[in-house]
Amino acid sequence: MNRAVVIGSGAGGAMCARELQGKFQVTVLEAGREFRPFGLNLNLIAKIRKTGLLFDSREIGWIFPAMRIRRAGSGMIVVSGSGSGGTTTLSTGNALRRDGALRALGIDLDEEFAELSREIPVLADHQRLWSPFTRSFFSICREMGLDPQALPKMGDHAHCRGCGRCVLGCPHGVKWDSRRLLEQALKNGARLLTSHRVERVVHEKGRASGVLVRHGLRRKWFPADLVILAAGGLGTPQVLQDSGIDCDAKLFVDPVLCVAAEMENCRQNRELPMPFAVQMNGYIISPYFDHLSFFFNREWRHQAGNVYSLMIKLADENRGGITGGRLRKTLSAADHGRLEQAADTCAEMFRRAGVDKSRLFFGTLNAGHPGGMLPLTAAQAKTFHDPRLPENLYVADASLFPASLGNPPILTILAMAKRVAGLCRRAG
Ligand SMILES: Cc1cc2nc3c(=O)[nH]c(=O)nc-3n(C[C@H](O)[C@H](O)[C@H](O)COP(=O)(O)OP(=O)(O)OC[C@H]3O[C@@H](n4cnc5c(N)ncnc54)[C@H](O)[C@@H]3O)c2cc1C
Ligand code: SF4
Repeated sequence: MNRAVVIGSGAGGAMCARELQGKFQVTVLEAGREFRPFGLNLNLIAKIRKTGLLFDSREIGWIFPAMRIRRAGSGMIVVSGSGSGGTTTLSTGNALRRDGALRALGIDLDEEFAELSREIPVLADHQRLWSPFTRSFFSICREMGLDPQALPKMGDHAHCRGCGRCVLGCPHGVKWDSRRLLEQALKNGARLLTSHRVERVVHEKGRASGVLVRHGLRRKWFPADLVILAAGGLGTPQVLQDSGIDCDAKLFVDPVLCVAAEMENCRQNRELPMPFAVQMNGYIISPYFDHLSFFFNREWRHQAGNVYSLMIKLADENRGGITGGRLRKTLSAADHGRLEQAADTCAEMFRRAGVDKSRLFFGTLNAGHPGGMLPLTAAQAKTFHDPRLPENLYVADASLFPASLGNPPILTILAMAKRVAGLCRRAG
């Protein structure tokens, strides 16, 4: 059987591994370790926070290796997952189809989305888990004519305990993440090697022959007939560039800024995050307790159970990149303008909830949806293959998006990866 190497085990990688195993003998190479949810008690973290020892968000990797933080420009940090399941293990489980920009290129993913709806359980009826504060913000959004919608969640949310720890890894096995696809691939004979960081793809005369991998102090060679690169919006361009293949400096990250206030006993930290959202022009607003800001941002000095926060998630301009491990991403004047407008809308929501603007504070500017550096074009609508790539190397992750979604991307990445795997199955 022909050998396929899949690089990365997040949304795109796990989907390709599951779909390709059987037609190919699949090996998944994952840079991070096996995923484990964050194990520490959050009350303990709150105590450590008071000592001042938690001052740099990159420290999170010491206590939670599955979460990786990189610094970008403008004081922004970029969060990604490192470990089996990639960033899906840190997600809040939102499942939204967002393929408008792909459709505009002539890409029709209806079939893939239909299959996904049969494969992944999704529940939007979780209002029983909402606190009175969240219900009240939902009503406020309605009063403001913003048409708030409950967010569909991937997983078995009928059993959700509303513990609020989704972004630290669901400890109760409720939330769907891409390890479920990996399990299926492994059951069918694929193998998963964690702590295997791909350094580069070796190619000659337009064909990839395999990948060079760093495993601890050792370097290993994995020959391959097909290579699927799904190392995420930052990992994929890095591997490509290290393999001598240029990417576009079109990185987007979907910046997130939380606007928060002290609201006694609101206990948002123990509630299903992002229960609903309002869709605005170029951004969304959704209730979200920002654990990273709570851990590391000195503005967040109140007790966790007394902080209520609204997240702004922006569709940023796709300008920026990563080279030699250095991230270059700053926000444009238009991005800043939209952030300010969104912050004013949040302030109005809080005002209607009885909180004066003077009591509001902000979270750390962060981002968790990097992508866009190998964007699909209309010319690639049928092939999903960039002519810069060797003929048997495909990309299958967020790098393929032509523009920022400003919205949860997992479902659409899964659909694109399914398409890539289908094309490879037919060709292989
Ligand atoms: C806190 C948070 C919450 C989120 N919530 C949601 C949500 O609710 N819904 C939603 O749709 N999206 C959400 N997202 C975004 C979503 O998780 C990601 O956009 C998505 O997982 C990206 O998929 P991917 O396949 O591009 O890459 P990833 O899932 O990031 O997977 C890439 C994998 O490749 C590995 N890798 C990197 N470099 C190498 C290398 N050189 N060799 C081998 N392996 C490598 C990485 O370790 C990683 O495991 C969230 C993100 C964050 C940070
Ligand atoms: S709120 Fe808790 S139980 Fe529910 S999905 Fe998130 S982590 Fe799992």
